[in-house]
Amino acid sequence: MTYVNQVYKIEYMSNVWRHVFPLIPDERKWLFVSLAPFKLLPDRELHRKPKGRPCSTRICNNMDIREVTNQQRLCGWCRNPSHITRSCPNRNS
Ligand SMILES: [Zn+2]
Repeated sequence: MTYVNQVYKIEYMSNVWRHVFPLIPDERKWLFVSLAPFKLLPDRELHRKPKGRPCSTRICNNMDIREVTNQQRLCGWCRNPSHITRSCPNRNS
């Protein structure tokens, strides 16, 4: 038979913490709470962001406002107005 000190017994621990954590009464004495008015909703803050390009958190200022111009946008590679640099047919040649 092994010796167990009094401080490790459940009664001792219960007496130590009784005034800090009150004992839970018997479940039959609990007040009845109807679950009907409650609706479980997901926390939007915990929702993961969808995959893809991350959203910019940068705050736009006057420098970011693009002025409206009558000029057509030109291809940066061949200066042709029909397409942009990314889709330039002359770029690979
Ligand atoms: Zn081009």
